[in-house]
Amino acid sequence: MNDIIKKISSNLRVADGRCPKGHSVMTQKRKFDGQAAIALQVAVGGRSGTIYLNSFYGRFEYDSEIPLSDKDIVNLTCPECGVSLHIETICKFCNVQMFAVHLPDGGQVEACPVVGCRNHSLKIVDLDAQLARMYVDETKFQM
Ligand SMILES: [Zn+2]
Ligand SMILES: [Zn+2]
Repeated sequence: MNDIIKKISSNLRVADGRCPKGHSVMTQKRKFDGQAAIALQVAVGGRSGTIYLNSFYGRFEYDSEIPLSDKDIVNLTCPECGVSLHIETICKFCNVQMFAVHLPDGGQVEACPVVGCRNHSLKIVDLDAQLARMYVDETKFQM
């Protein structure tokens, strides 16, 4: 099963990321690699703004309205409702709470909010549903 996930994740993109309350965090205003970015509200040291993240899994490109420096611990919230995106999971390298973007079918992408830390993971709750979705996309592509 790990092999399958590795194979999927090399091209996996968050196409429909959401906050825990179900608001879409995708934006067409900024694109990375030609695809819609993930837009989150970011706060650090009393300043806040929007941060745009590359929606491809494992790519760490970002564009922030507020200046960020290495080792800053950012606080991330939903731009729509302000709910915190931080979760119980602790980054084993930085010892801080990670954040998550929710995916359809109950999965989530988790990442560390420390600038420069690349710890992240993908949680797929229902692998069959994810594969079914990919299969559907592939069928469409062939038509
Ligand atoms: Zn929200
Ligand atoms: Zn970390």
